[in-house]
Amino acid sequence: MNIKVVFLGTAGSVPTSKRSLPAILVKRKGEQLLFDCGEGVQRQMVIAGASFHKDTRVFITHMHGDHVLGLPGLMQTMALHNRAKPLEVYGPPGIKKFIECVRGSVQFGLTFPIEIHEICEDGVVCETPEYTVHAVWAYHVVPSLAYALVEKPRPGKFHTEKARALGVPEGPLWGQLQRGKIIKLPNGRTVKPEDVLGPPRPGRKIVYTGDTRPFEGLADFAVNADLLIHDATLGDELAERAAEDGHSTPSQAAEVARKAGVKKLVLTHISARYADASVLLEQARRIFENTIMAEDFLTLDVPFLSE
Ligand SMILES: [Zn+2]
Ligand SMILES: [Zn+2]
Repeated sequence: MNIKVVFLGTAGSVPTSKRSLPAILVKRKGEQLLFDCGEGVQRQMVIAGASFHKDTRVFITHMHGDHVLGLPGLMQTMALHNRAKPLEVYGPPGIKKFIECVRGSVQFGLTFPIEIHEICEDGVVCETPEYTVHAVWAYHVVPSLAYALVEKPRPGKFHTEKARALGVPEGPLWGQLQRGKIIKLPNGRTVKPEDVLGPPRPGRKIVYTGDTRPFEGLADFAVNADLLIHDATLGDELAERAAEDGHSTPSQAAEVARKAGVKKLVLTHISARYADASVLLEQARRIFENTIMAEDFLTLDVPFLSE
């Protein structure tokens, strides 16, 4: 079961002819998680073949326009597609007021409920049977959150030879053991899942920093991530300006990736001043080799490392 990450918008602050405003779509098992919601996101979703009907959770990092102004358009397009399922929106303080204000003044004709989760404290902000989403306060010029999607560990590998040796007949009992249940055989003997399963296998982890300067704790937050998607708005030569604006440079992003031991780093939120962003990529690669530059519609698979 693959996770696909689709970069719908990779610009910082203003769109360019090649880059739309920040939005990153994570497709996982028929569900969509959308991190940030830049203007025009719904058209990017059409081009990327995303759905307006599927279970969708939106995670907004902060209340700067480039990250949140796509929500009204997305709500409108979903309504015109007769979406029925609720839309879940997570975000920092202000998100509730913003949605309520636009709802109160724009005639959307909404066909679905919106469930708003305003995040006031960091920690686990969303939990399902299969994954959690964690948030931590980043270091921007307004309150801003970084998010981590963390899958729960999967049960270990099922060793059929062990099951057979213990006299467990192939069939539903195998399934029960795989799901972690203790079973009883007709001869009265009990078999525990750990008798036939290998150690639990770690799930995957994707971290998105949103807009931020490097901050204490970010490398811990991102530790061992399969994918770290990091602000790299301005080049190393503009480090001072980046710090003033609450942004990072490619070298700073690469430093976090190296410290956190992530598998892959993606640079995003690229300033309009870089028509050719390869210079930013080079700066990061000097420190962290496995770095790629986000482009609109770049799609990455995030596979399990152990089967
Ligand atoms: Zn921004
Ligand atoms: Zn910002």
